[in-house]
Amino acid sequence: MNQSKEIIASVVSAAHEVRNEQRTLEYSDQQVLVKVERGGICGSDIHYFQHGRAGMSVLKQPMIIGHEFVGRIAGAPAGSGLRVGQAVAVNPSQPCNHCQLCLEGKQNLCREMRFMGSAQFFPHVNGGFANYVAVNAFQCVPYADDADARVIAFAEPLAVAIHAIRQAGDLVGKKVLVTGSGPIGCLVIAAALAAGAAEIVATDMSERCRKLAQQMGATAAVDPTDQQITAKWQENGGYFDICFEASGAAAAIASTVGFTRPKGRIVQLGMGAASTEFPLGPLLVKEIELAGSFRFIHEFETAVRWLESGRINPLPLLSAEFPQQQLVEALETASDKNLAAKVQLVFA
Ligand code: ZN
Repeated sequence: MNQSKEIIASVVSAAHEVRNEQRTLEYSDQQVLVKVERGGICGSDIHYFQHGRAGMSVLKQPMIIGHEFVGRIAGAPAGSGLRVGQAVAVNPSQPCNHCQLCLEGKQNLCREMRFMGSAQFFPHVNGGFANYVAVNAFQCVPYADDADARVIAFAEPLAVAIHAIRQAGDLVGKKVLVTGSGPIGCLVIAAALAAGAAEIVATDMSERCRKLAQQMGATAAVDPTDQQITAKWQENGGYFDICFEASGAAAAIASTVGFTRPKGRIVQLGMGAASTEFPLGPLLVKEIELAGSFRFIHEFETAVRWLESGRINPLPLLSAEFPQQQLVEALETASDKNLAAKVQLVFA
């Protein structure tokens, strides 16, 4: 540690204990200093804020949250290829890069993954919600100076969606169902459309989410409790070639097998309860494949390119933005599913 910088960081220490505090950021000559411009609030940030935990990761010490962020290079080591002032999206993944899974190119499954803004390990790995953050050069993906930072800040969740698309295989001409039309479900819709899907139907209990799903490219958006429609999806062994389960809700998970045609595939990316009831009988007799999808690998770069080129426009999902000073208001707005899809924080 041979550099330091006074920063203002957005820190969560326990459920509903969140504040902006001054900290001294210490980092090495080998690291890159990024002046953070904006960051999207993700479900896990909201979970840390509301419950002091996200899934199995429990807060044991104050942690800077945030793992969807973009900024400008404020300092970079010689030979990094990065220049001061350059716009970058920061990949929050820090795999160990030497375990068997990493060597096989499956870095998203690395058991030593130090994912930014995650309390999985102790000490926790700080996130990017601060006016400055120190990261590794390999985490920085430069993007065009004139691209919209609001758009590029969707790179991380879009990378999750593109990884899920790859887990599904070839989508060209396929009939696709996406259960759950939150930000991730909606980005899966957009990515599936970009990947050539012929028909994309979305479900969500919320009318607001269904409208967003259609704005993001869904052919139709359906209330999953509408049995007149969902009964048709189960006729003749199932209608959809591919089902992306993006809600994590038990009822949605259980419903996917009935909607998927024989030899079809279900991709589970909604994170719900650790275990749930699942109808194995129809899975077996229809020879349906069930695939998990977790985070992303090089899809992060792909996501930056798709956003930079306008191949995907995520802005319908951006519900609100707040300056860092209004951290609590931003988190409360992001927590209210009736109010907001994606909320971004803006750093001065
Ligand atoms: Zn590894």
